[in-house]
Amino acid sequence: MAEIIPFDQRDGVIWYDGKLVAWGEAKTHVLTHGLHYASCVFEGERLYSRRIYKLKEHTARLFESARLLGMKIPYTEDEINAACMEAAEAQGFEDGYVRPVVFRGSEMMAVSAQITKIHVAVALWQWPSYFDPKEKLKGIRLDVSAWRRPAPETAPTKAKAAGLYMICTLSKHEAEAKGYADALMFDYRGFVAEATGANIFFVKDGTLHTPTPDCFLDGITRRSVMALAKLRQIPVVERHIKPEELGGFSECFLTGSAAEVTPVAEIGHWRFTPGQISETLMHDYSEDVRRPVSRVEI
Ligand code: PMP
Repeated sequence: MAEIIPFDQRDGVIWYDGKLVAWGEAKTHVLTHGLHYASCVFEGERLYSRRIYKLKEHTARLFESARLLGMKIPYTEDEINAACMEAAEAQGFEDGYVRPVVFRGSEMMAVSAQITKIHVAVALWQWPSYFDPKEKLKGIRLDVSAWRRPAPETAPTKAKAAGLYMICTLSKHEAEAKGYADALMFDYRGFVAEATGANIFFVKDGTLHTPTPDCFLDGITRRSVMALAKLRQIPVVERHIKPEELGGFSECFLTGSAAEVTPVAEIGHWRFTPGQISETLMHDYSEDVRRPVSRVEI
C-alpha cells in the first residue's frame, strides 16, 4: 500500500465552527459525543475545476441527515455552501475531495445529549479520480458481504450518518483481505442494495436496472447518472433486484461522489463485461462535472 500522510498531519486550513483554522489546529477532545455515540453526519463531495459538483444538493442532504439525527446545524445552508467554497479557495486546489462533517460536542457524555454544541467542519484534500478510462473499463472486483443494510425501522437509513458505516468498514476490510476492491451488500430482505460507499447499476438488453433506495442512500451521483442516461434515451428501471438475477445482467457499475462511475467486472462468482453503456455514462458524467452548469437537474 502506498504511504499515506496521516490526515491530522496535512497542510492547509480547515473551516471549523465558523472560521478557517490551521489544519493541525482543527482538533476535538477525546470526550466528544460524536466519537462515542456516533452522533455524527457528513458529506463527500468533489471539487472539479474549482467548482463543487452539486454543492447545494450535498448541503441539503447534510442538513437532512443532521435533522434525522436530531441535530440542528447552527448555520444556514447558504452559509455552509459559502464555507465549502471558502475552504476550497483557501486550499487553492483545482480538483479535490470535500468533507463537511457535523457532530455533537463534549458538553454531555451519555446517551442523552440534549445540550451538546453542534460542531461543523469542512476539510478538503486531494483525491485524484481514476483518470485512465481504459484502465477503469477493465472493471473492479466485488466481494459479497455477509452484512446487510438495515431496515428503515432499525436505523435512520436516509441519513449519511457515521454509525451506518460500521458495517461498511467491516465489509470492506473483509473484501480487501480476500483481494477484492469492495463489497456488494444485500439489504435486510435479501435484495441487492449497494456497495460500501457507492450505489450500483446493472445493464440488461440496453436498459439500466438499479435498486430502489428504500433503505440506503439515494446517491447524488446515482440521480445525476439516471438523468444523464435519460438524456441518452437509455431506459432506467428502479426496482428490487434479487441476487439470483445477477447472472442475467451484462454490465455493472458503481456510482458515488468519490467513485464517480466505476465499472464492475466481478461480484463473487458473477461476471460482467464493462461495455458501451458503462463507457458512455462514465464519459457523460466526467463531462458534466466540469461544466460551468450541469446538464441535469436532480
Ligand atoms: N452509498 C453510500 C453508503 C455512500 O457512502 C455513498 C457515497 N456518499 C453513496 C451511496 C453514493 O452517494 P453520492 O453519489 O451522493 O456520493
